[in-house]
Amino acid sequence: MAPRSQRRKHKKPPSSVEPKVVTPVPLTLSKPDPSIDALGFCSLEKNVPGLSQLILQKLNMKSYEEYKLVIDGGTPVSAFRFHCPQEMFQKMEDTFRFCAQCRALPSDLSDSRVLRCCKRCRNVYYCGPECQRSDWPAHKKVCQELRLVAVDRLMEWLLVTGDFVLPSGPWPRSAEVVQGWDSWFSMRALQLDATLDALLSSPAMTTLWASVRHPRPASDVLRDSLKRLLTDALSRPLTMGLGLQALGIDVGKAGGSTVHVVGASHVETFLTRPGDYDELTYMFPRHLGFRVIMVGVDVATGFSQSTSSSPLEPGTVQLSSHRGLYHDFWEEQVETGQTAHPDLVVGFHPGFHSSPDLMEAWLPTLLLLRDYKIPTLLTVYSHQELAASLQILVDLDTHITAYGANPFTSLKPEQVYSNPNKQPVYCNAYYIMFLGGFCQLDQRQLEEKVDGRV
Ligand SMILES: [Zn+2]
Ligand SMILES: [Zn+2]
Repeated sequence: MAPRSQRRKHKKPPSSVEPKVVTPVPLTLSKPDPSIDALGFCSLEKNVPGLSQLILQKLNMKSYEEYKLVIDGGTPVSAFRFHCPQEMFQKMEDTFRFCAQCRALPSDLSDSRVLRCCKRCRNVYYCGPECQRSDWPAHKKVCQELRLVAVDRLMEWLLVTGDFVLPSGPWPRSAEVVQGWDSWFSMRALQLDATLDALLSSPAMTTLWASVRHPRPASDVLRDSLKRLLTDALSRPLTMGLGLQALGIDVGKAGGSTVHVVGASHVETFLTRPGDYDELTYMFPRHLGFRVIMVGVDVATGFSQSTSSSPLEPGTVQLSSHRGLYHDFWEEQVETGQTAHPDLVVGFHPGFHSSPDLMEAWLPTLLLLRDYKIPTLLTVYSHQELAASLQILVDLDTHITAYGANPFTSLKPEQVYSNPNKQPVYCNAYYIMFLGGFCQLDQRQLEEKVDGRV
């Protein structure tokens, strides 16, 4: 999700301030807010949607690459320990099997006792009625939402297998009137209903529910789940489109427009199908081409590595990735002219507010974006994260142009696996946009300001 380590600072832009003056600024992080820390989402075990690191371990797979290989029909490197879908879903479910109150694992219980799930949500487990009773005051606040999580994580399998194909095609309405999910869904209603009806009566759906221990929920529950999964997949391209609109990027620019996704990881590349970003084409039907480059140390291998600056075809979206830190990518690719200068930079959940280490890793990139005045959009999971991230950006003197609830947030709740009673959060729930620095102080003023802090 974020650059792992800081190797060196970016080169000083021609018109900017001296690095020695800039460096001491973001020190509010030295006293982290415990509630932010408790949220712990920077280490969210969700590098693959629906499949945590824990689950991969349970499946005896070493990496996402291996998982992907198996999904694509290849032979795994390590011993792949399941032979049928039932077994796989069982092993996935096993990773959730611990007492939500006392943390007991199945192996901790005596022979006569088993962990039983909450009958309402079928998502959390208890070693006995005492634990369930004492956990209820905390669990009842999230039980209903966790019920959705339990359904979504099984239904997500249909996206992985390709049985659930997202609706696509030109928008019958202009982007100005499609202001959020309500208008998006009403615009797609007919096509979407047909897709969902077909999927609900498909053999893939029957196989899925025959392979799991949960009883098959009613059609309207499944339908809602598919819609949430759809918002989760399309939240990223549509949020990007929101940034292009709000920051006034000219998508009719000759040669096409370039968007860099900074700090990209498996989340942005692993389950992304090229067609997902066609939403950008439908949103801006007269665009002259989009080049979307995912830059991060964790981008999935197999995702197109070409970041060439060859001419774009009008009306097409070219997706590619670059494995590495953004400020290195900038020096090696952008400054040398090998890759087009970005018209917009997007960071999905950079998480720099969550720890001083992450902040240190992100600082060169944030300063680069500020000093080169690159239109930038960042997203965060919660209101709490929004406040913390805004504070940091204000301390960095970035000129924040807009922030708020994202109309294209994912509607799929995300559970913190290790602590199921934490309030679920939503991907891209809030956005922040900034452009350059807030005040362009001259050298003398900056030095005074820094001296004043010492
Ligand atoms: Zn217990
Ligand atoms: Zn429950």
